[in-house]
Order: sequence, then C-alpha cells, then structure tokens
Amino acid sequence: MDAISYQRAADVNGAIAAAQRPGAVFIGGGTNLLDLMKGGVAHPVMLIDITRIETLDQVETLPNGGLRIGALVRNSDAANHTLVRTRYPLLSQALLAGASPQLRNMATVGGNLMQRTRCPYFYDTAFTQCNKRAPGSGCAAVGGFNRMHAILGASAQCVAVNPSDMSVALAALDATVQVSGPRGARSIPFASFHRLPGDRPELDTTLQSGELITSVDLPPPLFSEHSHYLKIRDRASYAFALVSVASALQLDGHRIRTARIALGGIAHRPWRASVAEQHLAGKTLNESTLREAAAAELAQARPLSGNAFKVGLAQRAIIRSTMLAAAGTQGQTTGEVA
Ligand code: SF4
Repeated sequence: MDAISYQRAADVNGAIAAAQRPGAVFIGGGTNLLDLMKGGVAHPVMLIDITRIETLDQVETLPNGGLRIGALVRNSDAANHTLVRTRYPLLSQALLAGASPQLRNMATVGGNLMQRTRCPYFYDTAFTQCNKRAPGSGCAAVGGFNRMHAILGASAQCVAVNPSDMSVALAALDATVQVSGPRGARSIPFASFHRLPGDRPELDTTLQSGELITSVDLPPPLFSEHSHYLKIRDRASYAFALVSVASALQLDGHRIRTARIALGGIAHRPWRASVAEQHLAGKTLNESTLREAAAAELAQARPLSGNAFKVGLAQRAIIRSTMLAAAGTQGQTTGEVA
C-alpha cells in the first residue's frame, strides 16, 4: 500500500504552494482519480483537497456578456444552472450526457477537463504495454482491442481517446480555461488545452507543473437558438461515446453564417471539425451540403483494425446533429432540472 499524505487548501495560493511537492496532486470530486489510485494506475504521494476553496464554486456573468464557471462547480449544478440552460444549452446537454446522476453530483468542471482516457489497457496494470501509463513500454491497443479508440490525430505511441462529453461542447463554444500556477495566472484557449498524443502520450493537457484550473470562461452566447449535442454509444446511459458531435449554428434564414462542430470519442482531444466548418460557412443548409462537409472532415481519418465503422458513423452523426441544431433548441430535451 502506498503512503499518501493529505492537505486541505484554504485558497488558490495555498493549493499552488502545496503542489510544489513532487508527487502532489489536486483532488476535487475524485471520481476519476480515486479509481486510478485504487487500480494502481496513479500513485500520488500527497492529495491537495481543493474542495473548500470557496471562490472556485461560483457561476458568474462576465463584463463582456460571457459566463465564468468555477472549476469546483459540480457537473450537475453546471448543467442545471439557469444561465447555462438558457444561454448555452449545448453545454447543458453535453454535461447531462456524461456519466450517471451520482457521478455528476460529485464530479467538478475542472476535474472533468482532467479526466483520463478509458482505454482498457491503461486501466489494467496486468498489461505491461501502455505508453500513457508507462512511457516507452509500447501500446497494446494498436494491435489489440481498439473498437473504442481514435480515428483522427493518433500516433504510433497512443491511439486513446478523450472521454469527456463536456469538453466537446466547450470546444465548439470556444471556451477558455483559466489557470493559476507558480508563475501567475494565464488563459488557455480551449483548442490548446488538450493535446494530441504525438510521442508524449503520457501528457493529456498543456498544463504546466503545479498549475490549478480556476474556471472555464465562455464567450458571449451566439448559439443559444441553434445547437445540439448528439452522443452515440453502445447503451442509452452511463456509457462513453463511440462518437459524439456538438453542433452550433448561426443562421440567416437557410444560409449558414457560422458553423461550429466538435467531435468526441474519435481523438485524443476534443476534435474541432474545422474542415467541415469552413465547408459549411456561407452555404445553404441541407443534407447534401452537410454530407459533403462531413466527408471532407473524415477524409483525414486513419481507422484501426477494429474501428473503421466510426468513420461512417461520425459522418452520419455530424449530419444528424447539425440538422437538429438547425431545427432549433426550443423543444430539445436538456434533461434534469435541479
Ligand atoms: Fe496506453 Fe494509449 Fe495504447 Fe491505450 S492507446 S494502451 S492508453 S498507449
């Protein structure tokens, strides 16, 4: 059994100072970290409990009309917050598509950003080959069971996917991650927060050592009338995405002024479908245009032995999600209300 020390942080500066100790990690809801520790995948020497930092559990409007969601806001509270439901229904839908009600009640927004892949070889320490868990050991998934794995942006070192639903919506909404660390505070554009695996698959994000996520900032709402989150999975609830799509549109009648599309379940980070977006800008919205845009985006796909089905599935999901976004958010189901 590993010896672990515990410290409760009273404020952000105290948490950052405590994190200077090698092997120290922050713990919020703990819904992923504790599983990793119990499975022998993570071995922190110290847990810094950040759950009592009051400044991080607020939802507040920003002077520019955007919204700041504190890193400690629980997933269920964020999903059911009136300002999120009315101004960013895409985010509310994505949050409610994730995990189970019990997990959403514990999991935090900051922790959701940090959750690790659900690649089975990463979690099962009986498999010695996993570059993410043990850099340089190889990747058991490349020649193994890879039905759930990446079709875009993977490397020979790792073909895992990011499991977060929330992050797919945040990618489409162009959110910003606010962090504080030993060298001060900085803002990370969402597209730069999660990494592709490259030759360093052990790194999921661009966070520097000792940095703490303090909030996620959303720009002023542009897509509250036309957005949709579609999650395709093996069973109706409590399952990770095979493919998911966050679609957000600004329309002039039937003409697409702006299209934002992000994909989940297909890459090591939420995948912004910029090729499809460019294809759609200025076009008349119909199924044929969407089919062309989706095909152009997935032309870059490099499926593995067990997941070629995801290429067509992702294209069909883009079409369906974006058509539902065009039909309007009014009347769409956003799930539970607190
Ligand atoms: Fe490990 Fe990534 Fe390969 Fe999975 S895909 S076994 S996480 S290196």
